[in-house]
Amino acid sequence: MTASEIARETIKQITVRRVEPTPENYTQIYLEVSGKPAKEDAASALRKALKQLPHDSMEQTNWVNRWEKVLKQDNWQGLADLLKEAMLQQLSHSTKWPKAIRTLMQGWDDKRTGMELARKREMLERVLINFGNDDTLSDKLLGMANNWLPADARVEGIPVPDELKEVPGAAAVPAAIEPLTKEELPGEVQQFHGAFTILQTLLKQTLQLGLIPRLEGYPDLQVEAVAVQESTERAKKVKEWEALAKSLKALLMRVEVIGAKEDDVRGDIIDLLHLLLSNIGELVADDSWLSGQVYAVQSIISGPLDRAKLKQAEKSLKEVIYKQGLLKHSLIEARSSFKTLISSFIDKLKYMGEASELYSGKIETYAQELSQTDDLIKINELVNHLMRDTSVMQTDILRSRDDLLNQQRVASDTQARILKLQDELSQLSEVVRIDQLTGVLNRRGMDDAFSTEIARYRRSGELLSVALLDIDNFKSLNDQHGHAAGDSALKHLAGVVKRTVRPTDIVTRMGGEEFVVILPNTNLDEAVTTMSRLQRALTKEYFLGNNQKLLITFSAGVALFQNEDDVSSILLRADQAMYLAKKSGKNRVMTEIDLRESQS
Ligand code: GH3
Ligand code: MG
Ligand code: MG
Repeated sequence: MTASEIARETIKQITVRRVEPTPENYTQIYLEVSGKPAKEDAASALRKALKQLPHDSMEQTNWVNRWEKVLKQDNWQGLADLLKEAMLQQLSHSTKWPKAIRTLMQGWDDKRTGMELARKREMLERVLINFGNDDTLSDKLLGMANNWLPADARVEGIPVPDELKEVPGAAAVPAAIEPLTKEELPGEVQQFHGAFTILQTLLKQTLQLGLIPRLEGYPDLQVEAVAVQESTERAKKVKEWEALAKSLKALLMRVEVIGAKEDDVRGDIIDLLHLLLSNIGELVADDSWLSGQVYAVQSIISGPLDRAKLKQAEKSLKEVIYKQGLLKHSLIEARSSFKTLISSFIDKLKYMGEASELYSGKIETYAQELSQTDDLIKINELVNHLMRDTSVMQTDILRSRDDLLNQQRVASDTQARILKLQDELSQLSEVVRIDQLTGVLNRRGMDDAFSTEIARYRRSGELLSVALLDIDNFKSLNDQHGHAAGDSALKHLAGVVKRTVRPTDIVTRMGGEEFVVILPNTNLDEAVTTMSRLQRALTKEYFLGNNQKLLITFSAGVALFQNEDDVSSILLRADQAMYLAKKSGKNRVMTEIDLRESQS
């Protein structure tokens, strides 16, 4: 075909195919008619090329999107700008990296800042973890390495990010193992070299610091774990890593088994302790001084174990044991001195008895002799004898009395000491009746107070009211101002309640943010009035949390003790009334009467 034939045929095809007579369509059909391969335009070739670029990271995807956008808009200037940007970036990378690496090497060897190698290694690992896939990696490395150099030796670059300056626990981290070089790694993992090295180090440290020390009681397993740790350091080939994974898995399974066994043992020990504690009364003669401590230990072991709490319980138990020891010693002492006292008393009594027998015998003899004589000289003699005998006896008796008094004094001293010790012991037990945060009675103290007040109620028939308070929206106070502020709020509330109620009323913290006030000799209306007074007091006495004035409100339920009630039934009614107060909008007081009306 000649060129003009081809041109003619092309125009014909444009009409036959009814396509628009644009230069593009003309070119395409012209090429088709002439049998030459279709020429791809630059834009679509570029578009195709962009599709083949990696889209693995956010940065990459953004980059490709920008190119596609300018192509779509036929924005050739934009395309040129992008090209320029890419080129500059490439150039800056090629200058930044050598600078970063050079600074890194200088900083690594420089000892002037006194920073230890282990710490530098730790920082480096953190930068790699955080920015390993990031364009800014070289900047970050430069900033970090600058930090290892004295101020005057630093290389210009961006400052080190704050989060990298502090490496918690850096001092405790042992020198990491020398990571494998990239070339030492199998081909498949070369591209993950950074992450892989970190993982390898972490695995080694997990074994060395986390697992091996915990296998103290299991020498076989410990040996096995050390072997696995050593192969972690050595393994280079994929095959070696596969073998390592297998032994790691086997080790893990065995460790899991002993873990479960240890949990069982721990459970058994706790059961045993519970058994011991709940039966301690059977084991010792007088457990009154112990019950408080037993209660404390019991409540500790029934919750999650906490070393601080355990230590505290241990301390207070030791104190009781020490005081009990003193008491026992004093008791033994007292017993022996009473025994001496009594035996000498009996001795004296016997002596006095004998003496007085002798005396009365003598008197009788003297009396007889007296009655048989009228001789004054003889009589005088007899009286003299009588006088001498009685004075001897009197001295004996006086001495005995002194002895007795002395021993009595010793005995009463001992007794006073015993009483004092007993008093201290009961005070120690008292501590466990008090809520440590707020200083009011705790749940156990509340139970004790209830028994006393219920006994009084049954004895005297005086009215007894009970109010249960629950702070409103306390969770959000905690959430907004922190748990410590929550704790202070509880203290504040307990203080205001104590100042507001009568001295005979008993304030207790039943648990969490719930308080119970026991109001002896108080009817339902008076109890409600007391609660309203408390609400007013709280609006006046602000609680300062984080330097802000915060208003604490509560909802309360009030119930009146009935003959057939016990602690749980009265608390149940007060709680239901409190719940009604919550349901009706909070910050109010409801009684069991309101409760009955709401139910009918
Ligand atoms: P409501 O008005 O319905 O009573 O809501 P609330 O948020 O007060 O009640 P909720 O029972 O949902 O939450 C009580 C919160 O009290 C949950 C718990 O974290 C908090 N709390 C319990 N004991 C303490 C404590 O000793 N200290 C502190 N700070 N918070 C406590
Ligand atoms: Mg509550
Ligand atoms: Mg509440």
